[in-house]
Amino acid sequence: MIQKILIANRGEIALRIVRACRELGIKTLAVYSEADVQSLHVQLADEAICIGGPKSADSYLRADRIISAAEIADVDAIHPGYGFLSENAKFAEQCESCNIKFIGPKSKSIKMMGDKAVAKDTVKKAGVPIVPGSDGPVENEAEAVKIARKIGYPVIIKAVAGGGGRGMRIAHNDISFAKEYHVARNEAEKAFGNGAVYIERYIEKPRHIEFQILADSHGKVLHLGERDCSVQRRHQKLIEESPSPFLTSDLRKKMGKAAVRAAEAASYENAGTIEFLVDAKGNYYFIEMNTRIQVEHPVTEECTGIDLIKQQILVANGEKLSFDQGDIKFEKHAIECRINAEDPSRNFAPSPGTIGLYYAPGGHGVRVDSHAYSGYVIPSHYDSMIGKLICFGTTRKVALERTYRALSEYIIRGIKTTIPLHKAIMADPVFIEGKATTAYMEDFMSRTPPDLFS
Ligand code: ADP
Repeated sequence: MIQKILIANRGEIALRIVRACRELGIKTLAVYSEADVQSLHVQLADEAICIGGPKSADSYLRADRIISAAEIADVDAIHPGYGFLSENAKFAEQCESCNIKFIGPKSKSIKMMGDKAVAKDTVKKAGVPIVPGSDGPVENEAEAVKIARKIGYPVIIKAVAGGGGRGMRIAHNDISFAKEYHVARNEAEKAFGNGAVYIERYIEKPRHIEFQILADSHGKVLHLGERDCSVQRRHQKLIEESPSPFLTSDLRKKMGKAAVRAAEAASYENAGTIEFLVDAKGNYYFIEMNTRIQVEHPVTEECTGIDLIKQQILVANGEKLSFDQGDIKFEKHAIECRINAEDPSRNFAPSPGTIGLYYAPGGHGVRVDSHAYSGYVIPSHYDSMIGKLICFGTTRKVALERTYRALSEYIIRGIKTTIPLHKAIMADPVFIEGKATTAYMEDFMSRTPPDLFS
């Protein structure tokens, strides 16, 4: 059995992993940057090792230092969390070759699903619908225009190595295509060191609906239902909920089966997510697989009662999943709001600094996953998420009312946050009626006076 785990991450997810390990009786080693000395995960882990300077490139992305820390502290496994090295096939491979368990899929599955073109091709062969588009990366501008015309405008140009909503451009005709094609290539080269792009039909006002997968190393692949992540700003998720107010039980069944087939096609092990876009008619298309735990995993945990981080650890330990598809019950409705240190009334400008008073909401059906506390200094080096509020109840109505209530209780002084914005959304008829698509945020921001969320 795994005795000690190194947590190769920071913030709320590092804390989440410490908590799961504690309940399983597993020791934890936190690795941290100089900017995170005061972070809760460092204080709560059994051991902690500083691995470098504040910049991610000097610490959380330094595979060599993380592996050294793992060897010094004699850990059996590494949990990568999300972001940083979590989808880095080379890092997973290094762990494998050092005989340290990587808590995630095998490196070959990461590689396969990390290349979006290969991923689409793989799931297509397994009978999962994909967005019509180029077969893999496009060679040059002339070929690209030809393909764009064939697919039909509007099209979206995406970086093969993209992620986190970056490296995507939309074109509505030949003229804008020529421009956007070059912008996308340059951006991709800068951000990912790989300028290769591919083209897809741009689905107008879709919903983003993803399925949580859990698979063991004995060939069992299950899905734990969906999360509707349509409320996004610049392709970054802000609110996630389950079940999706849009899906019928028939469509849910079909998509769940498709998600399992997609994971099977990648010989997938551990927790992962299959993302789909769904158009107004209910046509669904695979867009990508995330080969790691996701920010929004608590939504699924509260709906199903299954602890995904513990399951990840048990699977990595070689254990069989102790339940079957039919045993998974979806008894709750859950909504997650991402609490970011940003000022929504100033175009979401980052708002790092010192938190004065911090008071998190509680009560029936409320969960807060956060590493923040009174007096915590938010470093400016990392992403702006400082916590997640997850509220759940027997119906969507209860979950909505509870989310509004909990947001009203949440106090974070000294910095700007997305709390007032979430409150305004929870009171917005379009969201309340379950009608939000990925176009929702732009529309909401354009018709809502900024003083409502500042
Ligand atoms: P990333 O890996 O950067 O997260 P994804 O491929 O998962 O990129 O897409 C992120 C978001 O971008 C989707 O949730 C959706 O809002 C938008 N998007 C991606 N592909 C399309 C498409 N073909 N049509 C319309 N919107 C898209």
